[in-house]
Amino acid sequence: MKAYQEMTREELLQEKELLETDFSQIKARNLSLDMSRGKPSAEQLDLSMGILDVLDSKSILKSEDGTDCRNYGVLEGIPEARRLMAGMFRCDPERVLIFGNSSLNIMYDQIARGMYSGFCGNEPWCYQGKIKFLCPVPGYDRHFAITEHFGIEMISVPMYDDGPDMDMIEMYVNNNPFIKGIWCVPKYSNPQGVTYSDDVVRRFAALEPAAKDFRIFWDNAYLVHDLYEDKREDLLDIFEEAKKLGHEDMIFEFCSMSKVTFPGSGISAMATSRANQKDILDQMKIQTIGYDKIKQLRHAKFFGDINGVYAHMAKHADIIRPKFEMLEQLFSEEIGPRGIGTWGSPLGGYFITFETMEGCAKEVVSKCREAGVTLTPAGAPFPYGIDPKDSVIRIAPTYPSVEELKTAAEVFVTVVRLISVGKLIENSF
Ligand code: PLP
Repeated sequence: MKAYQEMTREELLQEKELLETDFSQIKARNLSLDMSRGKPSAEQLDLSMGILDVLDSKSILKSEDGTDCRNYGVLEGIPEARRLMAGMFRCDPERVLIFGNSSLNIMYDQIARGMYSGFCGNEPWCYQGKIKFLCPVPGYDRHFAITEHFGIEMISVPMYDDGPDMDMIEMYVNNNPFIKGIWCVPKYSNPQGVTYSDDVVRRFAALEPAAKDFRIFWDNAYLVHDLYEDKREDLLDIFEEAKKLGHEDMIFEFCSMSKVTFPGSGISAMATSRANQKDILDQMKIQTIGYDKIKQLRHAKFFGDINGVYAHMAKHADIIRPKFEMLEQLFSEEIGPRGIGTWGSPLGGYFITFETMEGCAKEVVSKCREAGVTLTPAGAPFPYGIDPKDSVIRIAPTYPSVEELKTAAEVFVTVVRLISVGKLIENSF
């Protein structure tokens, strides 16, 4: 198979004609397929049905410290839920607070708290002028949506195979008091599936921010989402590193049960220092009398401990691994040799990042839509929705069945070929 870049103009024109015929045939099939949603499939959701059976009207709804979970109270979460989530974070339960059904909601609230109350006695961000956040890119669009919503300026930081550009981060954070935070997905990042190296984690922990109220938003959404039990990527505990330097207040770590049990009906958690916890609880007690302790109890009873979570996640992995592997094989056969794209091969998480030739991503997404295949909008993984190279496409393989995904991926490959060949012809004038 010849790389497209090595083809003559004549050969490219021939290839385009063939692909256009293929594309017309695909369109005639009236497909309706979706590779845009980072959601578990129904088969994965079935794994958690037992959580509905661990409690019923005859159960004693008391937590291990005797709290009646049916009633108000216990703002920080019941002890067994804190212990379970601490197992996920691999930290001391004392460091953990339990929240509601969504970690994104905690992140939103933390930004709101920074804006209107300020952290640990510091002036609220909204009185401090044009504050800024660093955003490793490509990243999670909903993080960027939160900072954009609050009018916080976003600065893109490039991502590499071992995490974001730490030289750039140190330069900004350690010198500019307007830099108030950074979004990080440190394990199996959304969308590339990159896990930060030990060196990167140590450098984060060792930051010496110019702003006293700078915080790292360590969104560990995929902390137990390994695809291979024997190839788990280990993430260094940032708190342990930060503790050595007295920097623990700088970190807010988040996770949830969304892609473990039921998205939108799980529990979420935050790990942070004592000082930050006090700060948060002082405001939370005005916001709520407490989160859903019955659901906390359900999760604790269903899993027992972190080993129960790992066993459960191995079943998730068995369902989704073939989907990731199918895409890997297809791209290796159809894209790699033609030199028209690169992609990541993550060992966990929910996404694959595909990079087209420069200037092709938007066209690929819109042509796929024309053929009945929905992808995440090009540009979504960048602040303000702008991908400067117009090349990144996030692929979410988990939701469709393997057969549906295969059809959608074949359409995607045809479209990538068609758009790339068109671009090369355009450039050959
Ligand atoms: N953080 C990241 C990095 C995600 O990819 C997602 C969902 O896709 C979330 C947070 C949302 O988590 P939750 O359901 O706990 O709000």
